[in-house]
Amino acid sequence: MKSHIMKIAPALFILAAFAYSQDPIEPPSALAGPELPKGFAGTFLRTDRSEKFIRETIEKLVACGTRHSLSPWTDPRRGIGCGRDRIVEFLNGVSKADAGQMQVVVDKFEATAPRTNNQPAPLENVYGILPGSDPALSKTAIVVSGHFDSMPSDIMDPHADAPGADDDASGTAVSLECARLLAIPDVVGAVFQYRATLVFAAVSGEEQGLLGGTRLLEYLKQHGYKVGAMLDNDIVGADFAPGGPHRVRVFSDGGADGEDSPSRELARAIEDIDGRDYVRLIFRSDRLGRGGDHLPFVKAGLAAVRFTEPLEDYHHDHQTPRVENGSWRSLPPRRKT
Ligand SMILES: [Zn+2]
Repeated sequence: MKSHIMKIAPALFILAAFAYSQDPIEPPSALAGPELPKGFAGTFLRTDRSEKFIRETIEKLVACGTRHSLSPWTDPRRGIGCGRDRIVEFLNGVSKADAGQMQVVVDKFEATAPRTNNQPAPLENVYGILPGSDPALSKTAIVVSGHFDSMPSDIMDPHADAPGADDDASGTAVSLECARLLAIPDVVGAVFQYRATLVFAAVSGEEQGLLGGTRLLEYLKQHGYKVGAMLDNDIVGADFAPGGPHRVRVFSDGGADGEDSPSRELARAIEDIDGRDYVRLIFRSDRLGRGGDHLPFVKAGLAAVRFTEPLEDYHHDHQTPRVENGSWRSLPPRRKT
C-alpha cells in the first residue's frame, strides 16, 4: 500500500500544481465588485513610444565621444557638455510643442567626492518640469530620471572614449521619451491635465558617486516639492532576444524591516498598472554591490525604484571600447578557464 501511494504521490502533486497554478474563479455574487481606479490622467500605449526618437537620442549622446562628468562642459562636440546640449535641445523642442508649459531647467551645481579627486567639480543636471494643475498637488513631484554621464574602464579618466549607450544614454532616452509622450498633447491624441508636477530629469555625476541624483533631491526640496515617486531608469537598453517576452526589473528597497516601505509600495503599484507580464519586481534596493540615483531618495525614506533590463550584460557597463584580436569590441579580456 505504502509503495503504491509513493508511486502516485508525484502524479498527485503535479495535478495539484496544475489545478492551483491559476487563481480560482471568484464565486458568483449579487454584491457589487470592488471599485476600480478611475483611470489615469495620462496614459499611452506601448505602440505610442517611438523607437526612432529613442534611437536618435542614444546615437546623439554616443556621438559626444565621452560624457565623463569631469570632461569639458564647454566643448560642443566632445564631452559631457555636448551631452547636456543634446538633452536641452530635445526638451526645448517638447516645450515649444506644448506651448511653453514645460519649463526646461539647467541646474548647475558643485559636488566634491573621492571620484572628483576630492576637489569641487562643476556639474549640471537638466530637468523638464511640467507643472501640476491641482493647487493641492502641484508641489508634489513625480520624477522620471536617467543619468547622462558615462565612464570608461578607468573611472577617473575623462579623456578616453566612453560612449555609454546602455549605461545610461538608454535611461536618459526613456526620460526624454516620457516627456515627449506625456507633455505634447498631439502625440497620443489627448490633452492631459496632470494634478501633480511631472519632472523629466537627466542627471550627471552618477558614476562619480550618485552626485546628480543627490542634487536632484536637493533641488526638489529647495523648490518646495514633495516627492510623490522617483522612477530611475539605468541600463535599460539591451535586448538579448528582440521580440521575445521579457520583463524589465524593478528594484525596490524594503525599508527598515526589509519588507515594506514607500519604495516597495511604489513597486507594487507599478506592477498593478503595468501587469506582471511586463515588469519583474526584485525586492532589493539594487543589484548586488551596485547603486543608482534612486538611492539618495530611498535613504530619505521616499518612494523610489530603479528600472534595469532583464539580463544585464556587464560588458556593456564601464568598459573602454577597444580592438582585441583584430575585432572591435567593448568586451573585457576573456579569461582562459
Ligand atoms: Zn548607470
